[in-house]
Amino acid sequence: MLAQLNHSRLVEQEMAANERAAIAQRELLEAIPIPLVVTAIPQHEVLHSNVPAQHWLEGRSIDPWLSGLSAPARARFFQQLADQGAANEFEVLWQGAESRNWALLSARRLLYQAQDAVLTTFTPINSLKAMEERLALWAKVFEASSESIMITDGERRIITVNRAFSRSTGYSFEEIAGQTPELLRSDRQPDAHFEEIWRVAVTRGSWQGELWLRRNTGESFPLWAVINAVRSDSDQITHFIVVAHDISERKANEQRISHLAQHDVLTDLPNRSLCVERLRLALQLAERQARRVGVLFIDLDRFKNINDSLGHHIGDSLLRSVSRSLLSAVRVGDTVSRFGGDEFVIILNGVADADEILQIVNQRLIPLIRQPHEIEGVELHISCSVGIAVYPEHGVDIETLMRNADAAMYQAKFSGRNNAQFFSIEMESRARERLDIENDLRHAVERGELRLFYQPRVACRSNRLLGAEALVRWQHPRLGLVPPGRFITVAEESGLIVPVGAWIIDEACRQQAEWRDRGLGDIPVSVNLSAVQLGDPSLLEQLATTLQARRTKPQMIELELTESLLMENVDSNIALFHALKELGIVLSIDDFGTGYSSLSYLNRFPIDKLKIDQSFVRDMLDDTNDLAITRAIIGLGHTLGLKVVAEGVEHIEEKQMLAAAGCDELQGYLFSRPLPEDEFARWIKANAALAGD
Ligand code: C2E
Ligand code: CA
Ligand code: CA
Repeated sequence: MLAQLNHSRLVEQEMAANERAAIAQRELLEAIPIPLVVTAIPQHEVLHSNVPAQHWLEGRSIDPWLSGLSAPARARFFQQLADQGAANEFEVLWQGAESRNWALLSARRLLYQAQDAVLTTFTPINSLKAMEERLALWAKVFEASSESIMITDGERRIITVNRAFSRSTGYSFEEIAGQTPELLRSDRQPDAHFEEIWRVAVTRGSWQGELWLRRNTGESFPLWAVINAVRSDSDQITHFIVVAHDISERKANEQRISHLAQHDVLTDLPNRSLCVERLRLALQLAERQARRVGVLFIDLDRFKNINDSLGHHIGDSLLRSVSRSLLSAVRVGDTVSRFGGDEFVIILNGVADADEILQIVNQRLIPLIRQPHEIEGVELHISCSVGIAVYPEHGVDIETLMRNADAAMYQAKFSGRNNAQFFSIEMESRARERLDIENDLRHAVERGELRLFYQPRVACRSNRLLGAEALVRWQHPRLGLVPPGRFITVAEESGLIVPVGAWIIDEACRQQAEWRDRGLGDIPVSVNLSAVQLGDPSLLEQLATTLQARRTKPQMIELELTESLLMENVDSNIALFHALKELGIVLSIDDFGTGYSSLSYLNRFPIDKLKIDQSFVRDMLDDTNDLAITRAIIGLGHTLGLKVVAEGVEHIEEKQMLAAAGCDELQGYLFSRPLPEDEFARWIKANAALAGD
């Protein structure tokens, strides 16, 4: 009995102990912070779940897998359990009522309360997943970046590079991993530069700038690179991150742009700014080596005619051809540049003396330019005028040399073109005077400083007044009465001849009408026209308007044009002459005999008069040639049905000779100098008394 009692107490105690153990186990199970779920097989009823699992079950008691997993995931999960009796770290996206969460499921098959069951734990991995996605994104960015990226360890051993890096260097990841960036070092820059870059990256934590690297093909290329040092918590450099992009194209563009900025588009020769730069260098060098530098200003003679008559594209081709000739005339290292238009400037470096320059210019440059240029199957001929200034004789600075070469070129033009002139001191003062005159001339018309003087033209036999030539003078406030020889060329070159010429025409018309109105008679007035005026498209209209405004009869106005001017643009001039004739204006050829007019051309111009050049008249008495020419011109004029005028008649013998030769009209000091209008009016009256048929 006692034993019996004892036994039942023991059993009771054991049961109590078991009960305690079961409770403890359950408590332990409940206390595990890992979500645990036991589900039955095959219906998947939830047999047990601990508190942390409630979050995942959300009250589902039968088959939580059905709504929690996607159908394929659920199928795979149970397949694994069936095959292996377990599933480890099975990654799922768990579908809750409100949200979806990433989890790793680990499951074991077991017998639970004598029932076939599955124990599943849930490990939430949302944050890991997010990190993983970020990493994947970074990897994509890294690979997809158009910038080359290279990551090295603290010892500069390459850990990884991206595709852009491989593309621009030609090295694949496999080839370059484990190497150092030394492999890419280019000899386009000193080695010290490379060292310096790393030194800065280490000491300052970063470096950026331009740098040349070498591709695996050996070719160097420029990049813009940024290097950052990455430090650990203990401040050790653990990595270097290098981000770079290829700037070869940008460099090439920059070069193209700077080439464009420094070269003339038409000829590809250096332009003014590059020429000045080259001259600066040439002067520095010449100073050190005690050598000379030649500065040549070259202007093509009568280029404008070619351009105007044959068209701009022919003109352009000719300029290109000339630039080639110039290049072949000079030595390697000399500079041939174009300043625009038909102006070229050459710098001859390090020459010994003026003779050497003259040799180059006279033996090579001028002859090469004069050789025919074949343009579109046609041979064009051109010459040039060259002005030369030599360092240090004619200036030691750029500006002076340029200005003096320009003045010398001007002089070369003046002395008949097709030649070269060295600069001289007289040229300098002449150039300065020319500049002063141009500046003052700008205001001469508006300030009423211009005057017309009139020189009578008389009938050869009777001395009867046939007309007057209007000759311009400039009443300059400081210089006094300036003759046209000193300012007409300046006016032509500066374009001022257009307003000046318009004033002259207007004034001549006004005067003609005034004499008539005052009862002095209808005196024809002749006006000299310059080439620039002839090329002015508004000339015709301006003449017509002025004639009308001043109430002057067109036949009372004569235009004097020089022979050479006529021959410059034959076809357009013939047309213009016909239009002028249609207005009723009288036309005469001035300074006849000095040009080279072709008689066949002359015939085509609707002209009325020839004016024999003064030089023939002046020398006629002493020089039988000039007498012969004078007679020939008179004969020729008459054959063509023209009146012939002789000017510069100073002596009575000349008058007699001309009368004998049959000349029609005379003009010269013998009759009168050019006179201001009031004196001219007096002369008319006095002469009327003398003249007789
Ligand atoms: P040009 O048209 O041949 O004018 C004749 C020049 O010879 C005038 O000089 C006149 O004063 C001068 N002369 C006249 N008779 C004699 C003489 O018997 N002996 C000498 N030694 N000379 C004589 P000027 O007035 O100094 O004019 C010079 C040139 O200036 C003109 O030559 C003409 O080409 C130009 N010119 C004058 N006035 C004008 C004008 O209004 N417009 C334009 N475009 N040019 C003008
Ligand atoms: Ca004249
Ligand atoms: Ca003349």
